Amino acid sequence: MTYKPTIGLEIHAELKTKTKMFCNSKNDPDEKEPNVNICPICMAHPGTLPVINKQAVKHVLKMGLAVGGTLADFTEFDRKNYFYPDIPKGYQISQYKYPLVSRGNLRGVDITRIHLEEDTARSQHEGDHSLIDFNRAGVPLMELVTEPVIKDAITAVEFARELQLILRYLGASDANMEKGEMRVEANISISKTDTFGTKVEIKNLNSFRVVERAILYEIKRQEEVLTSGGEVVQETRGWNDKKQETFSQRAKEDSHDYRYFPDPDLPKLKISEIPEFSEAELKKEIPELPEELRERFKKEFGIKDEDIEVYVNDKKLAVFFMSVGNKLKRDAKLIQLASNYITNNLIGLFELGHHVVEHMKPSQFVEVVKMAGAGEISSNNAVALMVDLASPYEIQDVHKHAKSEGYLQQSDESELMEIVKHVISENAGVVEEYRGGKEVSLKYLLGQAMKESKGAGNPKILESLLKKELSTKQQQSRL
Ligand code: ADP
Ligand code: MG
Repeated sequence: MTYKPTIGLEIHAELKTKTKMFCNSKNDPDEKEPNVNICPICMAHPGTLPVINKQAVKHVLKMGLAVGGTLADFTEFDRKNYFYPDIPKGYQISQYKYPLVSRGNLRGVDITRIHLEEDTARSQHEGDHSLIDFNRAGVPLMELVTEPVIKDAITAVEFARELQLILRYLGASDANMEKGEMRVEANISISKTDTFGTKVEIKNLNSFRVVERAILYEIKRQEEVLTSGGEVVQETRGWNDKKQETFSQRAKEDSHDYRYFPDPDLPKLKISEIPEFSEAELKKEIPELPEELRERFKKEFGIKDEDIEVYVNDKKLAVFFMSVGNKLKRDAKLIQLASNYITNNLIGLFELGHHVVEHMKPSQFVEVVKMAGAGEISSNNAVALMVDLASPYEIQDVHKHAKSEGYLQQSDESELMEIVKHVISENAGVVEEYRGGKEVSLKYLLGQAMKESKGAGNPKILESLLKKELSTKQQQSRL
């Protein structure tokens, strides 16, 4: 019998607010100069008093509604006491007994709670000393805890990805993992029975890839420990990216080690008595969520799921596609063709730094798609035309431009015949080979003809003209 893994996640996200959680210092994750966004409150000077940031509370409550959680009626903040240089007060203000949100579910994973706390300072260790930047100290931090119900690494990553999307849709956090704006901790245990095994917590997982690898590694490590007769130790482990393995950091504290107690400097909140925190008011500020967008795109446009996933992750592309899709009025084939160009080609232009959507009007793009759909332009030239349209140079008439650039598929037989004749007379050797039975030589001649037409020749017509011309010439030479 094999061991079954059990995983529970704890995810932190730095919230987007003008000021910090309990003071007026700026909350600016991009500030490079250390220790400028600080004040006596977040530096824990004696005699200062914290004030709750309303926007941060709203972000967490909206997240709660987005995952179908229950908003607290009563809530309070607690002091989590521990001693470390990154926490100037000697305690972190967090929530213990009364989190802002309880329960909820996302992608089939049950959520235990979502609460609000403050971030710690950033410490940097250099040789025998450490440097501390307090810009981050006191920045609002959301923590979401799941039930131990996840059974594999992929599901854990999918959950975290969806949470990241929702944070971004809500405007609650940029949730960039590389920047530490979203941090995932994975708790993992394995067992052969229904009783859970001892869990190990892995911290500092700074990308989705690392979350997956660390979980897979940890499951294997625990299996090896148990099969060789050992015992899994309850501890906190880190991830060594170089060695691609987890390593022991410290024995896990119990919650009583933190001596939690309600912060006497902060008011307790009756959420239901604060109008801005009412569900009705909060719901007004919740935009269409990723799952709703997926369903709508499926229903309205019927495009491939993998395309929908591209749009769910890229708002700019989604808005562009939406206006294109609406202009193509339920023509399923053209809509999918348009989506193919957007997800295969436009996305690449974006990544190269082109301001695609700023320069190319959806109506212009629709014209190109219609031309391609009708065979008036080759796929390659359709892309070339899109590149032109996406450039800052303003193009008024798409069709005129395509024509003057020679992008239009050349279907005029007499003009194409000129090209065919020219290619045959210029490539006597290859023509001989073809006549000698070398079929592939035709491909070469076709290639030359396409080249001579500057890629605009209709390849089907060119090929049939070539064949016709080569066989009549052959008959003539036999006479
Ligand atoms: P602690 O008191 O050690 O912080 P919690 O019960 O608060 O533990 O759970 C913390 C996280 O660990 C949660 O995400 C929870 O789902 C997860 N967890 C709890 N027990 C297990 C277990 N046996 N295996 C895996 N994850 C677990
Ligand atoms: Mg806990």
